[in-house]
Amino acid sequence: MVENTLRVSVIGLLLAFAFALSACGGPATNTAPANTKPAVETKPSKATFLAVGDIMLSRGVARLIDREGELAPFNSMADVFRSTDFNFGNFETPVSGNDTRVGKGLVFNTRKKDVEGLVKYNFKIVGLANNHALDQGEAGLRHTMAFLPGKGIEYVGVGETPEEAWKGKIITANGIKIGFIAASYSSYNDNGSRRNPFVARIEDVELMRNSIQRLRDEGCQFVVATMHAGIEYTRRPHQPQIDFARAAIDNGADIVIGGHPHWIQTTEVYRGKYIFYSLGNFIFDQRKPDTMEGLMLKVTVAHDGGVNVEKTARLDRVELMPVIVERFGAPRSATPAESAAILRKIGINDPVISPK
Ligand SMILES: [Zn+2]
Repeated sequence: MVENTLRVSVIGLLLAFAFALSACGGPATNTAPANTKPAVETKPSKATFLAVGDIMLSRGVARLIDREGELAPFNSMADVFRSTDFNFGNFETPVSGNDTRVGKGLVFNTRKKDVEGLVKYNFKIVGLANNHALDQGEAGLRHTMAFLPGKGIEYVGVGETPEEAWKGKIITANGIKIGFIAASYSSYNDNGSRRNPFVARIEDVELMRNSIQRLRDEGCQFVVATMHAGIEYTRRPHQPQIDFARAAIDNGADIVIGGHPHWIQTTEVYRGKYIFYSLGNFIFDQRKPDTMEGLMLKVTVAHDGGVNVEKTARLDRVELMPVIVERFGAPRSATPAESAAILRKIGINDPVISPK
């Protein structure tokens, strides 16, 4: 009985399908010209996100958390985090799952509970392509890749294969699809000498090109290329950073944002697109003066709307917001005087960029 009923309904479905096919695929009986597309109206929209520098929830930051709680590294910036649609940062520590480790020397680990600040303050996506991705081995990286999405945090820059590591992810905010990719100068903390399949590398231009193309094919309207590269404690980018950033723009990225040098670095406009070579530290426990300053970007992306308009969105505004890292891991907004002094170091007078 059950079988018969099933057969009858399958036949019914097939007939309905055949009818639907003939209705739209048969000889044209409607009067509209075949090549007229229906008018699609898009409403104007804007989306805003923060991009912050390096976040290291380990070592001295773990001690800060032990003293003041999981949210201590984030709390001073709560209002700023809440002023956007979502936030992005480079997350420089694996979450290995082994919470007895708090990171020591140059081998980092984040305890599972210590990601609460990222969750609470709307970090919907993080970059994991950095020189500490494998600090807790392959098992540590795999745990990180399984754990973060479970907390509502997407990641870019790592995977089981180079293609997977290069796969971009899209965050949709107010109807605008913003894609992210991430790549690093190094796969381990060894200055880039050994490679592994897990970390996207800045020299993989071909993979980057495919990745951006795939994002566009998926309807992505604005591409953010992020990189972890540069020489530590320097103010200007070196050639591999410049090569990556320009190649990203040549291949369709709309903005390039970097980190790793622990200092903020100069910016560049290339073919009308902005490159921020290094945002410096954001949550980090270093103690030398310039490492206790960072740059946060408040990025606004706009789609102007209209009828049958192109799908791409544009950069509407970038606000450069310097931060001061206190208590070895708790950034706060810099005062106007501090901001001006920090921005002067990279030759910037006006903290607001509004491209034409
Ligand atoms: Zn780094």
